[in-house]
Amino acid sequence: MGQVKAPDVPRPKRGLTDFERKIADILFAETSTNELPVERVLDIAIVISNSLQAESVREEAILRRAIEVYGCHAQINMALEEMGELIVALQHWLRGRVSYVEVCEEVADVQIMMKQLAMIFDKDIVRKYYESKIKRLEQRLNKED
Ligand SMILES: [Mg+2]
Repeated sequence: MGQVKAPDVPRPKRGLTDFERKIADILFAETSTNELPVERVLDIAIVISNSLQAESVREEAILRRAIEVYGCHAQINMALEEMGELIVALQHWLRGRVSYVEVCEEVADVQIMMKQLAMIFDKDIVRKYYESKIKRLEQRLNKED
């Protein structure tokens, strides 16, 4: 792989955020040290972080707009409908009647509706439960080892 030309980004005076550090760690792991100077890798990590965060803000704005335009009641019904479609797609996939791509489409539909449900009810509470359940799952898995 040749030199990567990254856009010029002013280095922040602050240290890297946790998220920027995680991205930088991935870049360091995937890039041989003689290909790019460390400062360049850190710049790229910041660009990627900013871009992902901007995308996340944009996505959240779209989902919030859907809730405002269609209303909570309609979006809860839509969530039920999409979950039903995923159940059917999974049942059909287990019987070899649909492709995995069709299942993926239904998974995406449900993900979109799950994000809206979290916004409709309480995103912070959902996140709290999500994180604690992921932690509990990790502990269970560690006991399996
Ligand atoms: Mg669907």
